[in-house]
Amino acid sequence: MSTPQQFEFQAEVRQLLDIVIHSLYTEKEIFVRELVSNASDALEKLRHLQFTEKEIFDDRLPPEINLTTDDAAKTFTIQDFGVGMTRAELIENLGTIAHSGSKAFLKALSESEAKGTSLIGQFGVGFYSVFMVAKRVRVFAHSWRPAEPGQVWESDGSGSYTIEEAEGQRRGCKIVVELKDECREFSLASKIEGILKRYSSFVQFPINLNGKRVNTIQALWLRNKNEIKDEEYTEFYKFQANAFDAPRLRLHFSADAPLAINALLFVPEESPERFGLVRAEPAVALYCRKILIDPHPKDLLPEWLRFLKGVVDSEDLPLNISREMPQDRALIAKLGRVLTRRFLKSLEEEAKDRPDGYKEFYRRFGVYLKEGAALDETYQKDLMKLLRYESSLTARGELTSFADYVSRLKDGQKEIYFLVGPNRVAIEAGPYLEGFRARNLEVLFCYESVDEYVMSHVHEFDGRRLIAADHADVKLDDLPTPPGADALTKEQSKALAVWLKETLGDRVAEVKASGRLVDSPALALSADKLMSPHMRRLMKAMKVEGAEDTPPRVELQFNPRHAVIKHLAAAKDAKPDVAKLMAEQVLDNALIAAGLLDDPQKMIARIYKLLESV
Ligand code: ADP
Ligand code: MG
Repeated sequence: MSTPQQFEFQAEVRQLLDIVIHSLYTEKEIFVRELVSNASDALEKLRHLQFTEKEIFDDRLPPEINLTTDDAAKTFTIQDFGVGMTRAELIENLGTIAHSGSKAFLKALSESEAKGTSLIGQFGVGFYSVFMVAKRVRVFAHSWRPAEPGQVWESDGSGSYTIEEAEGQRRGCKIVVELKDECREFSLASKIEGILKRYSSFVQFPINLNGKRVNTIQALWLRNKNEIKDEEYTEFYKFQANAFDAPRLRLHFSADAPLAINALLFVPEESPERFGLVRAEPAVALYCRKILIDPHPKDLLPEWLRFLKGVVDSEDLPLNISREMPQDRALIAKLGRVLTRRFLKSLEEEAKDRPDGYKEFYRRFGVYLKEGAALDETYQKDLMKLLRYESSLTARGELTSFADYVSRLKDGQKEIYFLVGPNRVAIEAGPYLEGFRARNLEVLFCYESVDEYVMSHVHEFDGRRLIAADHADVKLDDLPTPPGADALTKEQSKALAVWLKETLGDRVAEVKASGRLVDSPALALSADKLMSPHMRRLMKAMKVEGAEDTPPRVELQFNPRHAVIKHLAAAKDAKPDVAKLMAEQVLDNALIAAGLLDDPQKMIARIYKLLESV
């Protein structure tokens, strides 16, 4: 016999265990679900190995999960005949952070103000959850690999664990949990049975409690949806997606053509990427006649649907489906297209029938839809219908669709206008909106960087071009001069434009008088077709090479009715020195409003000079 060898837990695991052990988290019972789910995973893995491996240790064992409780000894035991673990796997899987949920938990912990224990409930911590109730845990394991000896892993959840060889092990894992005194209820069969009731029917293997079968295996997605209760859906979602929230939306549907499909899709309550953590993994599991083929199929759904959870089952898939075989790939892709279209349709219905619910969904998941609209041409048209924006005509916080925008187009309006900015206040305070306001033209407000990509990749909606309201290509009719307001004459304006171009030189591509301005003396329009002001700011923020030293190309438009401009027109003949300073300052002010001024330093000296001249 070998002697036990002692190992330290990885630092992250120690941190996690410390929180778990001292947690007052009320739903301690989730440890049962975590252990059952691991047992089920291990059996699932074995089922797949049986396709490919010739020799498997202890091959006759039934694919089942056995739970036993011992009230007198205060223990809870769970045994599965799955793939088991080798010594190296015990170290890797139970000594370091393997579970993506525990990783996300630690990351959220380091980034949020919330206390550890209140976060546990949102993540689940996989195997380590057992230490909420255990004072000692032993894992007896024998790998499916015939040459590997059996092992026993043991820990009390403090800094270290031991491993030693153990004779006489069956294949799989047997986990013996010695319960803390205050948790002895989990050694009562009735308590465990109650916990199992809620989700055991979703486990695709028989579960026995003290020798008695507790579950009838049923695939929820194959059942008639009229017979399924909301709670069953929620429990299934929690079990299947290893989730702790309730689903925000669900779609349960079946189809016979072009493929036989039964699918159950869920949108979680919150975006899985809301903490800016790891990118979500595909989580709509692929089944064929109730047999799990792939829990995280990469090429089934488009990237931008990575927030979806659930299952899809298709009889038309071959059981030994392979992503290398072209015909199988084509089949998976086809399945993915049917699912995606059906899901987009259900979102459209949601938006129509339950606008408030859709708005809540959109607030959290709109960014994924935008990503799809920008990058995935296959679904671009459908996705555009689902996008929503604030606009110059909506109240703050209220959203409008492109279709609604189009229904409000003014006579003769051919284009859809938008402005990108950090928020409503900033856009409304800028000089760009006023000309549109004065003409009663609606402008959509875009606040997210992804919007810029959407607008520049999509180009049009319903045959109308999408165009940035701060772009030089936008042509607005001149407003009639309000009676009584005196403005520069056409000739005076022209002369001022020529003089400004001469004075400002290369800093401006063009200068002209404009009827679009109402309250501001001037504005700068981006003359750069490829890079909007917002994009340029982003590139600068990301320190993209070249963004720093290419001066922006702008068109300067001035307002011939504005006092400052009239003043400037007079000064250019009377006091040319001061007029030159004024011209440069007017341009800089316009650049600031456009977010395009790179070097504010020069301005300070100039303003002092201007102040001297008053
Ligand atoms: P997750 O299940 O999300 O991977 P866990 O913390 O629940 O994370 O488990 C960590 C790892 O330990 C699993 O990925 C698996 O490799 C291994 N493991 C846990 N329980 C078993 C088991 N009953 N049989 C085989 N391996 C297991
Ligand atoms: Mg697990």
